[in-house]
Formats: sequence, structure tokens, C-alpha cells
Amino acid sequence: MAATKQIVMSGIRPTGFLHLGNYFGAIRNYVKMQEQFNCYFMVADLHSLTTHPDTKELRENVERVLAENIACGLDPDKVALYCQSHVHETAELYLYLNMLAYKGELEKTATFKDKVRLNPENVNAGLLTYPVLQTADILLHRAKYVPVGKDQEQHLEMARTFAHRFNHRYCETFPEPVAYNNNEDLVKVPSLDGSGKMSKSENQMATLYLADEDDVIRKKVMKAKTDNGPTEMNSAKPDYIENIFGLMKLVCAADVIAKYESDFNNCTIRYGDLKKQLGEDMVHFIAPIREKINSILPDKKYLQQVMEQGAAKANKSAGETMQLVREAMGLKYF
Ligand code: AMP
Repeated sequence: MAATKQIVMSGIRPTGFLHLGNYFGAIRNYVKMQEQFNCYFMVADLHSLTTHPDTKELRENVERVLAENIACGLDPDKVALYCQSHVHETAELYLYLNMLAYKGELEKTATFKDKVRLNPENVNAGLLTYPVLQTADILLHRAKYVPVGKDQEQHLEMARTFAHRFNHRYCETFPEPVAYNNNEDLVKVPSLDGSGKMSKSENQMATLYLADEDDVIRKKVMKAKTDNGPTEMNSAKPDYIENIFGLMKLVCAADVIAKYESDFNNCTIRYGDLKKQLGEDMVHFIAPIREKINSILPDKKYLQQVMEQGAAKANKSAGETMQLVREAMGLKYF
């Protein structure tokens, strides 16, 4: 008899164009995992409401994220690719889990503090309980593995805490989920300006989007922060140079990287040449994805069908889990 496949769940918010951080932090693993795992990947439209309450462009953004995932190689026939708001039981599990999450621990979450700092006039309760909603998304499918970037590490720790609390208070219902990157450290793709990470809405000139045109990619890479180069042999790299070498490791050939490492160590490095090479390798990587996105995006009927198919799969799994949850909590009176 075939062994039961392990369950995987992850999501991306439809808050803008997807970028290299989304690809290398998350989607690359989605594509690998779809062959061996039972995968649930969603467009996290409810999460996006915590920071983007205006829904005028939501549908368009949801369709874009679906198209971008498929363009990267995700196959909607192999996985459940769905939209979070189509799974109504998410709200029910979120409610139950909210009773197990404490204000103090939610207030300490790094992403919450960041968002308060960035947008002090919109500190809503949904923002505070974001990690609880995320836990509901994961536990709804009783997922064990969650492919995410480094920025999600703390949220996953919280998901384990909430799952553990539920199991302890009621009865063993959920696996404790773990962040997944193929047994390697979680990925953080840095921004090109040497500060922070690539992101959908901040520092757009320092972020490489999967939809960027070739010339835009070259231009952004050429603007990446560098300096006059090291003056002492084998010196340590400043953070912003380390970041550029980190980006090279994502798309450049090993011998190219080795050449620039050696040029750096013997103080002959020419950052202009390095950035030209990196720009070309980025174009080579991004252009086929962009072209695929542009071919999928106009086909609204296909995207609609993907959403419907994904919703059916996700609702089936969520329905089964919620039966167990209600039983575990003693909420079934007839
Ligand atoms: P978000 O764009 O915040 O909805 O995140 C979607 C997924 O992309 C999550 O798994 C994040 O951890 C991942 N991600 C977003 N930005 C980066 C980045 N700069 N480096 C690595 N992973 C990222």
C-alpha cells in the first residue's frame, strides 16, 4: 500500500507583484514539493485586508498571484491552489484559536511591531491576530511542513505553540507545523540597496519583480549599492557587498561566483563588471517567468477554473479537519 503523503501548506498575500524573495523563499519549494507531498497553496486575500482594506484591486491582484505561481511551475492539477476567502471554515478555526492566543505574546511579534511602525493609524485587531489566522490556515489542513522565507520563522513558532495548546487543552488533533526549506536555513533575499529584504510594497527600485522588463532588471541591478572595492587582501565583505554575492548565488554559475570571490580577495574586483554579469543572469532567470505570466494572465476563464478546482480541494480537507476540531472541543451537541 502506498504511504500517505505528508501535508504541506503555505500562502502568499495578494498585495502586489511577486518578487525574487517570494520565489526563492517560498515558490521554489512549492514547485519541488508538489511532486512528493499533498500540497495546499493559497492566495492569502484575507491576510491582505489587515494592511490593505481597500478591495477595489483585490480580484486583479488575486488573479496575478495565481498566474505568477503557475508561471513559476506550480501545477493546479497536482496541488490545491486556492484563494483563502473561499474556505469559510478558516474563520471558524481562527475564532477558536483566538481563545488560545494571548494579547501579550501577540504584541511581541516582530512583524506586528514593524507594521505598527509603518502604519500607526491602522493598528487593527486583525493585524494583532495575524499569526492566529495564519495558524488557522495551516492547521485547517493538518499540515506538517510550511515552506516559507526567514521572515516567517517567528510566526511558525507561534503556530506550533497554538497547535500544542489546542492539543493539550482538548485532545491530540494537529501536528505541530515546521517551517521548511529542504533541511537548509530559511532564505532571506536581501534588497539591492543593502538594507532590509526585497518586498512587494517597500523599496520597489531595490526589489526585482518576476514581472520586471529586461531593461528594468538591468537598471535596478546597476544601481545596487557598492563602493570602491577592498584595499586589503582577504578582507571581510561589508553587508551590502555580501548581499550582492548572496544574489549571485541564486542565479549565477559557480565559476562566475568563484572568479568574483577571488577578485574581491585580491582587491582587483570591478563592481561594474560584476553588476553587468549579475544583471544579465537575472534577466536570463526572470524573462521566461515574466513571459509565462503575461501569457496566463489574460485567460480569466482558466484562472477562474483554477480557483474553483482549488477551492473544492481545500474545502474538502478543511471540512474533515473541522469535524475533528468540533468533536475535540465537545461542540457537537447532536
Ligand atoms: P508575503 O509576500 O509576505 O505574502 O510572503 C509570501 C512568502 O514569500 C512567504 O513565505 C515569505 O516568507 C516569502 N518572502 C517574502 N519576501 C521574502 C524575501 N525577501 N526573502 C525570502 N522570502 C521572502
